[in-house]
Amino acid sequence: QQEKLEPINFQNKDKIHPLTKQKFSKNYFEILETREQLPITAQKENFVKLLEENQVIILTGETGSGKTTQIPQYILEAGYSYGGKYRICCTQPRRVAALSVATRVSEEMDVELGSEVGYTIRFEDKSSPETLVKYLTDGMLLREAMIDNNLSQYSVIIIDEAHERTISTDILFGLLKQLLTTTRKDDLKVIVMSATIEHKLFQEYFNNAPHLDVTGRVYPVDIFYLEEGENDYVSGVIKTSVEIHLSEPKGDVLIFLTGQEEIEDCCERLYWRLCDSKSSEIGEFEIIPLYAALPYYEQKKAFMPTPDDKITTLQNGEKKTLYGRKFIIATNIAETSLTIQGIVYVIDPGFSKQKVFDPKKRVESLLVSPISRASANQRKGRAGRTQSGKCFRLYTKKTFEQLERQTIPELLRSNLGPVLLNMKKMGIINLLMFDYLSPPSIDLLVRALETNHYLGGLDEDGELTELGHQISSFPLDPQLAKMLIKSQQYDCCDEILTIVAMLSTPNCFIRPRKRRKQADQARARFIDCNSDHLTLLNVYNEYFTIQKNQKNQWCKQNFINNRTMYQAVNIRKQLFNILRRLDLYRKSYNDYSKNQSLIELKIKKCLVEGFFMQTAYKLKRKKYLIVRDKQQVLVYPGSSIQFFRDWILFHEFVLTERNYIRTCTSIEGQWLVDIAPHYYETSKFSNGRVKSALESLHRQRKSAMEKFKKKKMKKGENAT
Ligand code: ADP
Ligand code: MG
Repeated sequence: QQEKLEPINFQNKDKIHPLTKQKFSKNYFEILETREQLPITAQKENFVKLLEENQVIILTGETGSGKTTQIPQYILEAGYSYGGKYRICCTQPRRVAALSVATRVSEEMDVELGSEVGYTIRFEDKSSPETLVKYLTDGMLLREAMIDNNLSQYSVIIIDEAHERTISTDILFGLLKQLLTTTRKDDLKVIVMSATIEHKLFQEYFNNAPHLDVTGRVYPVDIFYLEEGENDYVSGVIKTSVEIHLSEPKGDVLIFLTGQEEIEDCCERLYWRLCDSKSSEIGEFEIIPLYAALPYYEQKKAFMPTPDDKITTLQNGEKKTLYGRKFIIATNIAETSLTIQGIVYVIDPGFSKQKVFDPKKRVESLLVSPISRASANQRKGRAGRTQSGKCFRLYTKKTFEQLERQTIPELLRSNLGPVLLNMKKMGIINLLMFDYLSPPSIDLLVRALETNHYLGGLDEDGELTELGHQISSFPLDPQLAKMLIKSQQYDCCDEILTIVAMLSTPNCFIRPRKRRKQADQARARFIDCNSDHLTLLNVYNEYFTIQKNQKNQWCKQNFINNRTMYQAVNIRKQLFNILRRLDLYRKSYNDYSKNQSLIELKIKKCLVEGFFMQTAYKLKRKKYLIVRDKQQVLVYPGSSIQFFRDWILFHEFVLTERNYIRTCTSIEGQWLVDIAPHYYETSKFSNGRVKSALESLHRQRKSAMEKFKKKKMKKGENAT
């Protein structure tokens, strides 16, 4: 039975904080002023009333309207924490967004981050029992649903950025829809927030829930297309940026690129081009990269004030203003999840990194792909927030017209293997009958059931096995989780923990453009020429021995990213705790000085336990054939591997202009038929090189087993 709402009054006449009972800071009132100017403010009462009367609300609004930062506060103020008995949560598809918004909202509410306002992202929890408003990734809310199927700590759940249609968001929809008619019928409210698209789809799905749009004033944006297509869009970006800086009126520039490397590269090139630009005097400029892997204090730079204008006197005596300008070079995170004030120009090359999965080939990869028209328009919109703006599309009008209308939901183009076990754990019994917002193809689902079955997480009837339960206890890809679970059998828990932690962080090797040679030399010391996994282990092991106050120095000297290492230590600790809690940890008794090759053998076999479905067979030199799907691939150029053996295991498949496999380890074919005989049954392969190689391996295995049996029998005879 639902209790009565008791509103929390922030604007009381005593100017005392209703939660901390302290005086408000000066900062609070300053931010309050800007908050009150947000378009959403005009709709506050309207929204609260709607919330009272409905179980589900669909809320749309142009990016920057104030949805993500304000709505959770409105809900809290309206009393939905019921005196601290319940929480309000708001999901984000991206870690960065959850962290950044939580930080901002804690400032707005004048509380410490992690107390009344907190966030939870994978491997990082900044919340506490006091937390009333929690931002978290959609993936983390799914994890919580696995432990508490009813999500009973929340009174209101906000699914933000719903238009992004990530797998986790789509699955949460199905789960919430179910809760709203069953166990949480009377005491749960759901708000679906999205950019100004697709609200009809959400409304229909949630039984015609009411829709509220909070878009305030938007200004017109002029669009400029290229006359002819351009191949090298980074050069196009630089050219356009320089032109804007030299000849356009005041206003900051937002540039959309696809990933960290490209962004860093572009920042550097743009910097030099602006420094070299012919006109001797140009306005001050600041170039700011913005991508997920960037530490928060670096990301915050995007919100810093624009450099000041400069006034200069021309040769003819006239005065001219040189405008100071910020160039923000960002990934998709700036498309809808982060709003930066003052953007007047947008440069859009029309690409983003997207997950692609081919169920027949069962390899998933991030691929730079054309964006959808909806995305392009979203990007354009970023230029018209505060005044009219310009959007430079680095493609032709015709290309624009040929783009997909909407981005295809992730659920329809991903490997569902990892999410399937989680759905099972959430108590979803029939995965084929689940109420999906957009149902994935049967092919994808069957493929996912099959891979989990091979891995041992699901039994013949599609039910979770004991191993499946264990696997889903880890916030990891099932293959990595299985490696960890099996590591005790191979007496290498500590090593596998390290490897998995390193694989869960961004690349630790830094390779600055201008110092590649030194970087490669430094790296050579860690290299294991048969295994990238062991190379990562070597880096971590040495880092671990360095004294705490010298770690940063060591990282610098060795061209290692210290943030990555710090993260890896933290992740390893958390994985260790899970492993121990499941009673699966045993300290490895490995003495590297005595028997290195034996230890390495055990580690590699343990890798096979998890990744036997990601192997390839050698064609020639670096060229391999992926087992089972017959795709030709090359070992990634940056790999440590120098001796190319017949069989190789890989962590990742990278699709670029060529197909690569990245983070590899050479293995023995024999291990494959020993460890995963069910997967490597020759009847499942069509005729060809791989099949004949496997047949010979199976023959060897059979004769070895027979020998072993004979030996055992003999022993038996002797004993009697
Ligand atoms: P929406 O969710 O509708 O896109 P938000 O609630 O994210 O809008 O943003 C509202 C306003 O808050 C924006 O104008 C944005 O500039 C501001 N804002 C958000 N995060 C920060 C931050 N970390 N620092 C400064 N301003 C911020
Ligand atoms: Mg938002």
